[in-house]
Amino acid sequence: MAFENLSTKLQETFKKLKGKGKINEKDLKEAMREVKLALLEADVNYKVVKSFINNVKEKSLGANVLESLTPGQQVIKIVNEELTNLMGTTESKINFSDSGVTVVMMAGLQGAGKTTMSGKLALSMRKKNKKPLLVACDIYRPAAIKQLEVVGKQIDIPVFTMGNKISAVNIAKAGVKHAKENGFNFVIIDTAGRLQIDEALMEELKDIKEEVNPSEILLVVDSMTGQDAVNVAETFDKELNITGVVLTKLDGDTRGGAALSIRQVTNKPIKFIGMGEKMSDLEVFHPDRMASRILG
Ligand code: GDP
Repeated sequence: MAFENLSTKLQETFKKLKGKGKINEKDLKEAMREVKLALLEADVNYKVVKSFINNVKEKSLGANVLESLTPGQQVIKIVNEELTNLMGTTESKINFSDSGVTVVMMAGLQGAGKTTMSGKLALSMRKKNKKPLLVACDIYRPAAIKQLEVVGKQIDIPVFTMGNKISAVNIAKAGVKHAKENGFNFVIIDTAGRLQIDEALMEELKDIKEEVNPSEILLVVDSMTGQDAVNVAETFDKELNITGVVLTKLDGDTRGGAALSIRQVTNKPIKFIGMGEKMSDLEVFHPDRMASRILG
């Protein structure tokens, strides 16, 4: 599970603080040094770590924690609040379109988990009484369309495909038209990924965006790729102005730094997390719950 090391390290630091009763400036400084190291080891972006530590120090001094009766507890409370703020404070919901048909574009590198997340999202929308349609726009990877069809079949949600001889932009456009004409009100466009960011990929995504005017562009990133995930998010956001991030594979042994950095670096919310390959696993991202989980 993600964050295991970070959790252990932070818990050790806080146990020491709590055990002390009264703490002095030196104790606080030492604790902050340990928190900083733990965050860096968890692969949190160094700029994010720096400002995080400064915020915690400032708040601790502002709240006069050293004079309080339970200084250790106070510091932990501040760290918890700041961790929550770092990840976006509150959960971010899906933007539904006023027009009746909500279009969501899923973007990201190959293998990030777009197709899996498309299925999870479709399933969760049906549970909310929406009528979802999956649209297969990855015309480059031979197995991609088939894979989405398999996912669709598994959860009994229709998949709109036009094979791989027609441009992704036209498939997306036709998919949205099909949805409108057939009573679907939630369209999920599964786009192509590449092994790395390239110009052709970005141009295609921009064209699809232009054509279907989505309410959401969700960037799916693999948390196992650490700071690369953060860089990918920055680039996609610059090019596409994404509306949110989906962070997958948090069930793996990722160090978790991406989860703690992406919001600060891109200023875009993490909306969902992936905690497994199964279709029932869509989880809304709750910054406060994640912070509490990290602090144990
Ligand atoms: P795409 O290329 O972006 O469409 O990625 P896929 O949806 O095909 O996912 C790539 C691989 O990662 C597949 O084997 C998925 O089963 C797996 N996967 C996707 N999301 C998760 C997740 O949250 N946790 C785990 N453990 N595996 C995932």
